Amino acid sequence: MTESPRAAVGGVEVSVDHLIGGERVAGEHTFECRSPLEWDRKLADVARGGVAAAERAVGAAVDGFGVWSELDASERAAALRRVADLIEERNDDIALVETLDMGFLHRSMRERLVARGALNFRFYADMAEAHAEPRWPARGTTHTVQRMPAGPAVVITPWNAPFMLATWKVAPALAAGNSVVLKPAEWSPLSASVLADLTVEAGLPAGVFNLVQGIGSEVGAALTADARVRRISFTGSPETARRIGAAAAANIVPFTAEVGGKGPLIVFADCDLEAAAAQAAAQYEDSGQVCLAGTRLLVEAAVRDEFLEALAARTAAHVLGDSRDDATTIAPMVHPDHLARVEAFVDRARSAGDTIVWGGRRRTGSLHYEPTLIEPAANDSEIVQSEVFGPVLTLQTFATEAEAVELANSTRYGLSAIVYTGSAERAERVGRAVRAGIVWTNTFLVRDLSAPFGGCGLSGIGREGGDHALDFHSDLKTLILAD
Ligand code: NAD
Repeated sequence: MTESPRAAVGGVEVSVDHLIGGERVAGEHTFECRSPLEWDRKLADVARGGVAAAERAVGAAVDGFGVWSELDASERAAALRRVADLIEERNDDIALVETLDMGFLHRSMRERLVARGALNFRFYADMAEAHAEPRWPARGTTHTVQRMPAGPAVVITPWNAPFMLATWKVAPALAAGNSVVLKPAEWSPLSASVLADLTVEAGLPAGVFNLVQGIGSEVGAALTADARVRRISFTGSPETARRIGAAAAANIVPFTAEVGGKGPLIVFADCDLEAAAAQAAAQYEDSGQVCLAGTRLLVEAAVRDEFLEALAARTAAHVLGDSRDDATTIAPMVHPDHLARVEAFVDRARSAGDTIVWGGRRRTGSLHYEPTLIEPAANDSEIVQSEVFGPVLTLQTFATEAEAVELANSTRYGLSAIVYTGSAERAERVGRAVRAGIVWTNTFLVRDLSAPFGGCGLSGIGREGGDHALDFHSDLKTLILAD
């Protein structure tokens, strides 16, 4: 591979260029990448791709597809396992780059999220290898279903948890036999570049995994408009999902959109209130920049005061600080523009007559916004209905289970929900009645990778996870043979 300029990010060398056809390729222009931990210090000047880079990357992916899709599943699986091994070897470097680049707590990166990246590759290596083609007799014939690799896939990721999300979306595409062009978000582009190096080191043939850096409206739009692309896998905001959906429709290309969330956290009086309050306070971690977060607290009126007292104590114990410090429990926000967006949400809520119970202001000297709790004047308040994506929770009460479900289902989103109850029957009833892609009861974030993952309503289109992602990345063919 040709030498390319590298930025030293916390002492880790990271290429700032694209990776196209197995080679590092410089951008004609660059964009600045800064750290939420020290905004005054530039981390890197990263390649800013446009139409030319997009065309070249898709061309390389077409060539890479020709080689990769012809390999046996076991050969592809072996390569994916080598990527997983390398991720594990570089765990600490990747965790540090990710923390410096986008701000999430180093502890959770080091101990959890990078390891999940390796698991994503291992899981899909196993899935690719283990897959048996469905086969059955019918009306004097044998039916067999073949999964044909679909072609080059474009993967577009958001700035939050970029490494984990990129691996979650890239691994099934590769396992299905597709080549990939990954376009990470411009606010956190660096860990994807480390991943690109690891795919080369793992021996993936040139063009099978390509990385293009740049701005969404420029290179992202060019990639999704390219008619040679056969799948688009997107995670991000509803606004971008609409644009990508239009581009996909123009070329009749299947796309998945994992979009935003406005999840309820429902607290019934019969639950372990301390556990529920701890879970609610945990939603502030990573400054609430988590799509699955339960940001609408719906609390049975009879226990509102007791719950609020427990939540206040746990919120007061949070430590806003440098994400590299293990004592820190709330990370800074990713970017000053995002901090300003969150601040504007709270300011509008205040002006509209919602009650700020605590927080409601930024910290000076860092990109932190204080953990905030708001009691809305009405359920149709903007702060209840719109995704804030910051450390802002709302608190509403309900009198009956039916009212709790009605409130839970009252936004246009439907990604996730969290329920706290001591009753198994209620857990079953409420879990089934809530409109969401996933409902956790008395727990959060635990999920087997074979389970479907995705949202209802404004939260997205399609399902990832397990067979769902492999089906998405394949063209299914039915073979019928007369007996
Ligand atoms: P965003 O939509 O602004 O950007 C996401 C990606 O799309 C970036 O890489 C961006 O460069 C690219 N992009 C922007 N315009 C484009 C265009 N016209 N064509 C092609 N690509 C384009 O989202 P964001 O602000 O980076 O991420 C935050 C959002 O992501 C939140 O809404 C959050 O809930 C959501 N999210 C959802 C999930 C999930 O699994 N459902 C997970 C994480 C984040």
